[in-house]
Amino acid sequence: MKAGTYCTNMLAINIMIAIGCLALAGAALVVVVALARAMTTPAAAKAGARLPAGSLDETAGVEEKLAACVRRPTVSSFDGLGENAAAFADFKEDLRLLFPLVHANLERRDIGEHGLLFTWKGADAKLKPAILCAHFDVVPAEDAVQWRHGPFSGDIAEGFVWGRGTQDIKVMLVTALYAAELLLKEGKSPRRTVYFAFGGDEEVGGNRGAAKISAELARMGVKASFLLDEGGPIADGMLSFADRPLALVGIAEKGYIDVLLEAEGKGGHASMPPRISAAGAIARAVAAIEAKPFPARLSFTVRSFLDRLSPYVGMPYRLLFRNLWLTAPIVKAAFGAAPTTNAMLRTTAAPTMLSGSSKENVLADLATANINMRILPGETVSGTLERVTRIVSPFGVTARPHHPKEVVEPLPESPVDHDGWRAIEAALRGSFPEAVAVPFLFSAGTDTKHYRTITEAMYRLTPLLQTSKDLEGVHGRDERVAVDNLRRCALFYKRLIASI
Ligand SMILES: [Zn+2]
Repeated sequence: MKAGTYCTNMLAINIMIAIGCLALAGAALVVVVALARAMTTPAAAKAGARLPAGSLDETAGVEEKLAACVRRPTVSSFDGLGENAAAFADFKEDLRLLFPLVHANLERRDIGEHGLLFTWKGADAKLKPAILCAHFDVVPAEDAVQWRHGPFSGDIAEGFVWGRGTQDIKVMLVTALYAAELLLKEGKSPRRTVYFAFGGDEEVGGNRGAAKISAELARMGVKASFLLDEGGPIADGMLSFADRPLALVGIAEKGYIDVLLEAEGKGGHASMPPRISAAGAIARAVAAIEAKPFPARLSFTVRSFLDRLSPYVGMPYRLLFRNLWLTAPIVKAAFGAAPTTNAMLRTTAAPTMLSGSSKENVLADLATANINMRILPGETVSGTLERVTRIVSPFGVTARPHHPKEVVEPLPESPVDHDGWRAIEAALRGSFPEAVAVPFLFSAGTDTKHYRTITEAMYRLTPLLQTSKDLEGVHGRDERVAVDNLRRCALFYKRLIASI
């Protein structure tokens, strides 16, 4: 071995040792920083706080109001045909009797066929208004005979109010108006103007209700500070690793599109098929879409969710959630493994309806598939369509919107550093003190889409403490709400309105 080679080798070894030392030091530093960040997580308030005794007496009586509203079968339908017009009219008339002070002191306007707008003028005209939304239509109850109490009975029994709308979402309309009624009785009023905006066709898109109200508010030049609409529950026991119930406040909402895939064939008899049929092309396209999921991304909403959640979880989770600069790939992999958390990370594509020919021995001259897609905030409808087109076109398949009128762009992500957010947090402390508010990505559609241009921030929360089991009543059988829970919901609104 030559001396020069020996020197070069020693130099290489020295460099490698130096790099190794640096890497070790770097790794140690990373661990120290990660641990420090986890350990300096803001302290959580003590769990297990309870409402002062007697608090629920404050809002007693709200159960009869809700029961009366449930008894009107206000089932909405897409074209309006088959809707029980008398039920809707009666419901609107009932409100006058149920909330007399609201009707004596607030301006009420019936807007279009399905819009109701109440205006409560605030004392300080300089403050931007707040919009409190809900809808008074409900979905049908096809299996009515199997309910323990009829879906439109409005029975108050076994500690619950029963029927359609008790969870989705006459409950929010009634508790908000009841809170206003109680505050008026006490001679109180909000500092900022409050609009109560109620649509009667949310379940079928909201075009005859919320869209009309929003257009009217825009015409009046209203630019609201924030809006609160139905949304996530105060989740009780749903996230096993959190030490208390979580009020899942939707600060963003996914977009929506049904993409129609089409492959043309020549039809004909199935005894002499081509090598690739139209049905085969569609099948390949659907398989390719499933094989290439949209990219995962930790959006502002998900990052805020994990950050705000970190004080209420154990150390291993805290280490992960507080150090996304380092742990994002692990969090993405873990979230990607289950459908519920995966939906928070990416635009999803679900093949739902496939069709070929209508006869066993006939080739399809047109095969189709519907891909139901929920678009992540930050992405767009057109970008989504382009990606799907790129994936399916090699198979001779085209992609286009299935129902262009139902397409919804993802809604903007609302800030958590905002007066509206703080007001909701404070109202929760006064009504559900054992829970904590965390920002959340809401994956179902709501009426909020109609208000996107006239509000700074939009929040989606259904202020009811609910387990996964309780949520089965939403659009399901035996929809009901516990009377205590209902009274706390009214207390939430009372605290909220009094503070804004
Ligand atoms: Zn609803």
